[in-house]
Amino acid sequence: MTTPSTEATESVRLPLRPELAGLEPYGAPQLDVPVRLNVNENPYPPSDAVVADIAAAVAEAAHGLNRYPDRDFGELRAELAEYLRVESGVTLAPHHLWAANGSNEVMLHLLQAFGGTGRAVLSFAPTYSMYPEYARDTLTAWIAARREEDFSLDPGYAVAQVAAHRPAVILLASPNNPTGTALPLSTIEAICEAAATTGPADADGGPTASVVVVDEAYGEFRREGTPTALDLLERFPHLAVSRTMSKAFGMAGLRLGYLAAAPALVDKLRVVRLPYHLSAVTQAAALAALRHRGALMGQVASLRAERDELVTWLRGHGLQVADSDANFVLFGVFEDRHAVWNGLLKRGVLIREVGPAGWLRVSVGTPQETAAFKAALEEVLGW
Ligand SMILES: *Cc1c(COP(=O)(O)O)cnc(C)c1O
Repeated sequence: MTTPSTEATESVRLPLRPELAGLEPYGAPQLDVPVRLNVNENPYPPSDAVVADIAAAVAEAAHGLNRYPDRDFGELRAELAEYLRVESGVTLAPHHLWAANGSNEVMLHLLQAFGGTGRAVLSFAPTYSMYPEYARDTLTAWIAARREEDFSLDPGYAVAQVAAHRPAVILLASPNNPTGTALPLSTIEAICEAAATTGPADADGGPTASVVVVDEAYGEFRREGTPTALDLLERFPHLAVSRTMSKAFGMAGLRLGYLAAAPALVDKLRVVRLPYHLSAVTQAAALAALRHRGALMGQVASLRAERDELVTWLRGHGLQVADSDANFVLFGVFEDRHAVWNGLLKRGVLIREVGPAGWLRVSVGTPQETAAFKAALEEVLGW
């Protein structure tokens, strides 16, 4: 074997899709610094007991790795339904659940099934920066309408946008990233009602619904009294609520996201998924992790309390802070946010330069990490 010569690699011109020319792969810059508060991870690693149980489950699954995994992952769907019942009091059957390698893949499945050429996906900016990428990758037009100054969503405006654009899919992040803002149930309800007939015409020219996706990646961090869109599933067959084990559950490395929706909607996703997309190892590890939900979720209450305390602290210093129902806080407004970001980095604290001009986002870490962030910010801003 010889490696291809540089000359040969340089002379070939690959038939890259023109819209991908010059694009870089998505990803938050990951730097090796002591305090990393930039990608909204749960700062607490799994306990030794959880690690041991996952290892044993994976070892057990390894005995059967000559076979393809359970392609419909029935046991995992049942356990996810049980998790949602305990977490939010909504009772769902396994066939209401769908899962994939992170909720990013779940949402890609949604766009593969319902988007496509000549169709549009509508969302409200500022919002999750991956959404336009799902649209691009599925040849779906991307429409970013806007949020209000305080990052809330005006229901009348949202409904008018839905009616005007007739999108195949509407993506609503709640709590939203990067702002932390949750949507009131009444807003999601109003959008779902409007969306019942605003989708693209079907083959017979008849009206379809727009599929409404509520991305609740941060759902478990919602404040007392903030509702979940799971409560609306019974009423709206064109609603899908997406969740993930990456954030509150503390399993970002596992890559397991899921959604709940009417079985007829879930069935359409089965058409576009790759065969055996959830490996036997992923299924075994996810099932083992779900058995430990109590321990894994044990930190959520303290992370929430710490978030609220951080919001108060930042406001107390005269900064603007968006209300947060997530495990991160968007704060500002800085004339030169890059200088602030960089000043923190020099002091070993990595946060995220993201969102509207002048704002910065910090994830809630351990109490020690939050203390390091506060101390660094005090220095950078000369408080
Ligand atoms: C982190 C995040 C996700 C989760 O992605 P996974 O693929 O499940 O890790 C989904 N949506 C939003 C808005 C997020 O911030």
